[in-house]
Amino acid sequence: MRGAAGGGMTLPPLREVIARHGLSASRALGQNFLLDEQLLDRIAAIPGNLKDLAVLEIGPGPGGLTRALLRAGARVTAVEMDRRCLPALAELADAFPGRLRVIEGDAMAIDPATLFVEPYAVVANLPYNVGTALFTGWLSGERWPPQWRSLTLMFQQEVAERIVAPSGSGAYGRLAVLAQWRARPRLAMKVHRSAFTPPPKVMSAIVHVIPGEMPQGVSPRVLERVTEAAFGQRRKMLRQSLKGLPGALEALGRLGIDPQRRAETLSVAEFVNVARELSDTAERRTPLARSE
Ligand code: SAM
Repeated sequence: MRGAAGGGMTLPPLREVIARHGLSASRALGQNFLLDEQLLDRIAAIPGNLKDLAVLEIGPGPGGLTRALLRAGARVTAVEMDRRCLPALAELADAFPGRLRVIEGDAMAIDPATLFVEPYAVVANLPYNVGTALFTGWLSGERWPPQWRSLTLMFQQEVAERIVAPSGSGAYGRLAVLAQWRARPRLAMKVHRSAFTPPPKVMSAIVHVIPGEMPQGVSPRVLERVTEAAFGQRRKMLRQSLKGLPGALEALGRLGIDPQRRAETLSVAEFVNVARELSDTAERRTPLARSE
């Protein structure tokens, strides 16, 4: 590698790394690479100061975001399932001795708890289907606050907007409630499709999420069942969409929520209140909050 090192020496341009290792973008693996180092540095700055912090990067590919994270001082664990990328990542590991651990594998099949003892930040530019599946997994965990301290994830802009959507908007739905009931998501940066090689069909956006307070006495599974039923028939009134959920209509009555309302008019706090009413008393006695 030409003049590559972590201590301020220049790394070879990403285009050269890609060409030298024959990393033609695979559509099957959702590969759209970011090559603009200034943009990558701005993305790596979104989680805040990363100096000496553990970072989990999913899908490093040729390592553009990885090198930006390393430059920011992070200790990076990168999970990549495309073996072709491993030699390029090994060069990066040589350039930042002891700072980059590369794990070959499918992120969907790896439990991050097996990779870290300490808290970690997640940063990833992932294929959208994988990103959404991992995102819902990270937000659905029993343990709260979770071991991750922040999530910085690239999504299709339309999905990012659904994550941060306020109640009453067309984008508001299950994903918004899941992302907002005990976490704080924000749309951190829009990324134009032309920033990627090759460019995807749609615009992208980066969402940054930090854990928030876990409301007491609410079972995450019950909340999921409520939002699934309510938004499963989002055009219907709650008295119709929730009627298959035992106790739900009575809970609306106790909470003074008009059953003629539709799901998208309920605030996140109202969904939480409905779920609390339905969460069983055993879980209420031992709230899931702060379980370590
Ligand atoms: N991080 C690089 C960048 O920003 O240029 C690459 C981003 S590319 C959109 C997505 C990367 O995720 C690819 O390198 C792909 O091989 C990898 N990938 C796709 N599915 C994966 C999975 N299930 N587990 C781990 N890596 C995956």
